[in-house]
Amino acid sequence: MALMITAECINCDVCEPECPNQAISMGEDFYQIDPNRCTECVGHFDEPQCVQVCPVECIPVDPAHTENHETLWQKYQRLQAAGQSLASPGPAVLPPSAG
Ligand code: SF4
Ligand code: SF4
Repeated sequence: MALMITAECINCDVCEPECPNQAISMGEDFYQIDPNRCTECVGHFDEPQCVQVCPVECIPVDPAHTENHETLWQKYQRLQAAGQSLASPGPAVLPPSAG
């Protein structure tokens, strides 16, 4: 299922950089989710990252875009094939070299 952002969004900006599919962008009045890019984080994470970070819990499932896990997985693979998804997160910090 794709998720959606409701008008309760306070435009706090924290969800947008967390989305592994670049599905979140600023809309006219508040943030929005592109249902063609939202995999509910399937393929990247166990839980929807935007929901995890949203302070006002305004990201429910979009009833207009209900999809099962397999469909979400296929969407994830399509996005990967199109090369439009960021590489999976790796270690942010390299271990210090012994000097
Ligand atoms: S559920 Fe995941 S893929 Fe969908 S908008 Fe939120 S962070 Fe992006
Ligand atoms: S985290 Fe929630 S409140 Fe903040 S911009 Fe995203 S949807 Fe809006």
